[in-house]
Amino acid sequence: NSNKDKYDQVSNLTVAIRIRPMGAKELGTNVVKIRDKELIIRTQPSGASGMATDHIFQYDHIFWSCDESDPIYATQEDVFMTLGKPLLNNAFRGYNGCLFAYGQTGSGKSFSMMGRNTCDSIDIDTERYSGVTPRFCKDLFERVRTLDKGWIATVEVSYFEIYNEKIHDLLASSSCVSNRTPLKVREHPIWGPYVVDLSVHTVKTYEELRDWLLQGNKNRATAATSMNEKSSRSHSIFSIELSLCERIKGEDMSRRSKVSLIDLAGSERLGNSHNTEKIREGVYINKSLLTLGKVISALADQKKNQFVPYRDSVLTWLLRESLGGNSLTAMLATISPASTQLEETLATLRYACQAR
Ligand code: ADP
Repeated sequence: NSNKDKYDQVSNLTVAIRIRPMGAKELGTNVVKIRDKELIIRTQPSGASGMATDHIFQYDHIFWSCDESDPIYATQEDVFMTLGKPLLNNAFRGYNGCLFAYGQTGSGKSFSMMGRNTCDSIDIDTERYSGVTPRFCKDLFERVRTLDKGWIATVEVSYFEIYNEKIHDLLASSSCVSNRTPLKVREHPIWGPYVVDLSVHTVKTYEELRDWLLQGNKNRATAATSMNEKSSRSHSIFSIELSLCERIKGEDMSRRSKVSLIDLAGSERLGNSHNTEKIREGVYINKSLLTLGKVISALADQKKNQFVPYRDSVLTWLLRESLGGNSLTAMLATISPASTQLEETLATLRYACQAR
């Protein structure tokens, strides 16, 4: 169909990998290569044979972002156009969607989703660095501006995090954010699971939305510091709800859709810890990431009547209405190219394969 956006996808599930550059102080060598549509991990020669081993993986998309001077370098815009734009197009047709960033801490999740980390905040404005979320929102308002006459669009946003299976509003008034009373999940008979008392904000322009985004990012960082923890231990969920209303022959026609952009907790194993808080965190993180993997692979399987374990984690339960059915789901798994991160990288690549 020539009218279809060239970045539109056919499948309801897309799995992509992004390889970030080597860090300035990162040790080790680059063990990741790409060849056509394959990603290759070359492990060092070992054993009597002294041969290097290649692990080969295939995904829907591979974003090579190791070296900016490389002609195949994937920019923030490329990632948005491939993974975010189809979700936006679908939202205007009235369908829900989710994009997850999965990977170990430091592999590029928040860079891809939000933007470049500067010392005290995340830069979402610089064109070259701004991530999928700000690009998605900017494009959304561009499209709202060009809607045919007679259409009325309403955009609402919410932003929360899940830490140890507990929900915290990132856009509530400052006193609520600091006392961190967790919010509850309930099930609405028609609309499905929702967070009770979560603040939802109507925004009329990208600039208004941007202010909420920045405030949420700041609250996430502040909450993490005050708990003496890193934000990498929580999942953050930014949701945009779009309502389109048209008056035809005196009757209101409306469609409603929701897109959630999710920066998942770091997928690294927490190692042997004697700290009970750390152990609990690890158990919760692993459980929700494991459940997410199971839910996505069950949906990808498309077998009728297959049981999908949504309720096994708060994250999947809340996203139930945005996973499966006519919804689009995209997963971006981020990895480091360094040999020192090899084990975590292989674990991420396998997780992403299983989701496929
Ligand atoms: P995570 O959210 O997974 O913990 P970050 O997004 O904070 O990881 O990335 C870790 C570091 O790597 C940051 O300094 C970030 O700016 C840098 N980085 C990540 N991905 C890229 C990329 N594609 N291009 C350039 N720098 C990147």
